[in-house]
Amino acid sequence: MIDRTEVEFWREKMQNFVEKEMWPYEPLLPRFENTLPVKVTNNIIGKMKEQGLWSLTVPKKLGGQGLSTPLYCAVREALGRTVLWGITGLHLGGSGDPLMILYHCNDEQKERYLFPLMRGDLLVSFAQTEPGAGADQAGMKTRAVRKGSGWVLNGHKTLITQGTVSDFVIVFASTDPEKGRKGVTCFLVDKGTPGFIIGDTIETMGGDRLGDLHFKDCYVPDSQLLGMPGDGFRMAQNWFIGNRITLQPPICLGIVDRTIEELLRVFPNEVDDRWLGQIQAEYQRARLLMYDAAYKFDQLEDPQYEASLSKVATVGLAMKVLRRALEISGSHGYAVDSMFQRYYRDVRRLPITEGSMETQKMVTSRALIRGFSPVDSLSPNYLGEVGEYV
Ligand SMILES: Cc1cc2nc3c(=O)[nH]c(=O)nc-3n(C[C@H](O)[C@H](O)[C@H](O)COP(=O)(O)OP(=O)(O)OC[C@H]3O[C@@H](n4cnc5c(N)ncnc54)[C@H](O)[C@@H]3O)c2cc1C
Repeated sequence: MIDRTEVEFWREKMQNFVEKEMWPYEPLLPRFENTLPVKVTNNIIGKMKEQGLWSLTVPKKLGGQGLSTPLYCAVREALGRTVLWGITGLHLGGSGDPLMILYHCNDEQKERYLFPLMRGDLLVSFAQTEPGAGADQAGMKTRAVRKGSGWVLNGHKTLITQGTVSDFVIVFASTDPEKGRKGVTCFLVDKGTPGFIIGDTIETMGGDRLGDLHFKDCYVPDSQLLGMPGDGFRMAQNWFIGNRITLQPPICLGIVDRTIEELLRVFPNEVDDRWLGQIQAEYQRARLLMYDAAYKFDQLEDPQYEASLSKVATVGLAMKVLRRALEISGSHGYAVDSMFQRYYRDVRRLPITEGSMETQKMVTSRALIRGFSPVDSLSPNYLGEVGEYV
């Protein structure tokens, strides 16, 4: 059972932090970028650490707080109540919650990558997408060929968050093209490795600066292999399933919460009662769906269906509420200083990333007809592995 008191405790704890330590910096967020001055980000991170809002999901045996998935969702719901929720530095392990895929690190890799990431000393990026392989990864062309006691990587990754600034990159490459998805392998590649070339930056409407990364005869020793050869695709998929519960859904709920609050504060007479009633029903339904998925995840039940639905429900709701907020607020909302336009531009990336919304709808509708392929057919160890983490 989920303990409501605990959920409220963590939500309130983060909400207090957001209001006191983050809202004052909102005006500093540049209009067309998604980053704050390093000093300010470090100040926020320092206070998060001080107040016990750091390494929340990391298992206790690895030095974290071992917070359950529902409680982590509660924290992230509150984080969504600031337009600073996605600033660089709080992305991708910047809150001391390393990408779960890195729990596959061996002991030596934990020392080099996982623990420094938890301390906030390193930045990481996750490089899967390619110019011809986005929603459908079957088109992946990056190859890694065995050479001596290592691998030679060749390929081009694109749209990589923090790609141009991170200290190391989690890279997916095919080591056995004939096996398709089962031939995909995951590597840890350090910035500065010969043959790893940082290319163009792609600027986006939400202000994220995404990187193009090139691998040209880039040699990495076996020590840079994450997991086993052929494990890459399932490791990524399993990580994405968890993300569909804990990353986007709670942030979207927080955004809806703050947007409604702001609408009622600034335009109390313009908000239609029946519209608000309908939104409340959709908000509560989406919230229950998310906590149901989070609970199942911790119970080691297969959460794929609820996770996909949770993404569809919450992201769709946030976009709907923000569109309405922009209509109601007229030129106020259209101004670049408005919270509504800022949230809207940020949220617009969510239907594209972490498993696109269209493909999640497709997957859930197919599941109604044929059922999901159970998660343990994707990964024999998935349930056991998650069990160790929570
Ligand atoms: C802000 C941002 C950050 C990102 N960060 C990263 C990152 O850190 N690492 C990384 O590897 N990638 C990253 N990406 C890339 C992202 O994962 C891809 O954009 C995503 O997988 C979609 O691929 P695509 O853009 O090539 O679109 P496409 O695959 O070309 O799809 C275009 C549209 O068609 C829809 N579609 C595709 N196939 C189907 C289908 N079979 N049926 C119905 N509809 C379909 C999709 O839903 C989408 O709406 C990021 C992208 C953005 C915008």
